[in-house]
Amino acid sequence: MKIKPLLALLVFLAPHAMAEGLPDLGENALTDLSPVMEQKLGASIMRDLRWNDPGYLDDPEVTAYLNRVGDRLAAAIPDGGLRFRFFALRDPTLNAFALPGGYIGVHTALILSTQSESELAGVLAHEISHVTQHHIARMVGKQKEATAISLASLLVAVLAARSNSQVSQAAMAGGAAAGLQNQLNYSRDFEREADRMGLQRLEAAGFDVRGMAIFFERLQRDSRLYENNAPAYLRSHPLTTERISDMEGRVESMPYHQVPDSLEYQLVRAKLRVASGTATEAVADFRSRLQDRKYTSEAAARYGLARALLAAGNAAEAEQERLALSHLKLDSPMLDTLEAEIRLAQKDKPAALAVYRRALLRHPHEKALIVGLAEALIVGNEPVAAVHLVEQELPLTPSDPDLYGLQARAYGALGRRLLQHRAQAELYALQGRLKDAVDQLQLAQRAGDGNFYELSAVDARLRELKAKEREAAKEAKDNKQP
Ligand SMILES: [Zn+2]
Repeated sequence: MKIKPLLALLVFLAPHAMAEGLPDLGENALTDLSPVMEQKLGASIMRDLRWNDPGYLDDPEVTAYLNRVGDRLAAAIPDGGLRFRFFALRDPTLNAFALPGGYIGVHTALILSTQSESELAGVLAHEISHVTQHHIARMVGKQKEATAISLASLLVAVLAARSNSQVSQAAMAGGAAAGLQNQLNYSRDFEREADRMGLQRLEAAGFDVRGMAIFFERLQRDSRLYENNAPAYLRSHPLTTERISDMEGRVESMPYHQVPDSLEYQLVRAKLRVASGTATEAVADFRSRLQDRKYTSEAAARYGLARALLAAGNAAEAEQERLALSHLKLDSPMLDTLEAEIRLAQKDKPAALAVYRRALLRHPHEKALIVGLAEALIVGNEPVAAVHLVEQELPLTPSDPDLYGLQARAYGALGRRLLQHRAQAELYALQGRLKDAVDQLQLAQRAGDGNFYELSAVDARLRELKAKEREAAKEAKDNKQP
């Protein structure tokens, strides 16, 4: 994890900071962090996580699922056009966190530790509320002398809550250790507010409102086993008996309805379980669950076993499980990608392509299907079809780095050098690597295989990115002059 760009940005933030009145919590809550700055800061931390943290889970199925649940919660009580983006981090500790600007991360272990979809939704709803209430910005505002350094340590500390984090060590080594934990922790007032707003959101989105209290209660009960080493979530979100009874009190007055878990919730958990140990362990685990009928969803248990067998290199038996699963007549793109991956493992590319194409008719624009099909086309020497597919999707999600990566590979396979470098430049630009993006565009200019229009487009984009680069350099220079 790179620390420097983040610190540089934060140093830049401080002189420009504005004090803004926000609805207060009974004391003068001023913020030094405007919504625009929150957004900028969040995007910068997120880029760092996305491209430099090995724990970032680059799985379009898990990401899409989290965003479906999260979007449902966000849409239930619209809040001034705030946009949320949810992502998972491969991490064995129980934690979830909100970054400024609406980026919400969940550790895979937390997803696995929930026992119902409403529990997971409860955690997300709580985190969404920290964002909508601008708690991070207000924490900054609460520090009377919010110097750039304390602002920096505060936000670095948000990330430092992660286990085994290099950021954490770097922050400690940087001498900012004192009081770091206290700055990181949300206050009890913030926690109560996030509970209250989160519960309303959970109810409005049609989840079981008891999910939040049940999850937090179990977290607290289990934490007694940890002694001084409480789950990271409890360190950043102090939990009290009072908070839990508050939540239970509120829930009592809300109408109760049972909410069944979605198929995807079950499938995502099975997929994460397979990835959390060795393939052999996962095969044995799911086999015994199926034998003893110890599962909440037979489909998910079979799906887990099929995925585990596939990971163990046993495509033939994986296919048997998938067939058993298909008799249940369920519809999810996750079942389609499983089938296509089994076909690819069986070296039957035409069948894999057919599975993806059929599935896309039922689930158009589903990211995992697009990526899977494009990969299969590139590997299967059909780059023209891959380019066509990717370029159909790009106008819909023009800032999706994965699509530019696929586009660059497909053009590379076609030997179209200008277009390959152009696509690679867009990927780098999205990664915040402006210099590399400019280099790619200069390579595109010299490629010598583009037509007049393609060359003009490259020239125009190069001017834009160079201007951006100059702007970034100026910002960096200003940072150094307080
Ligand atoms: Zn909290």
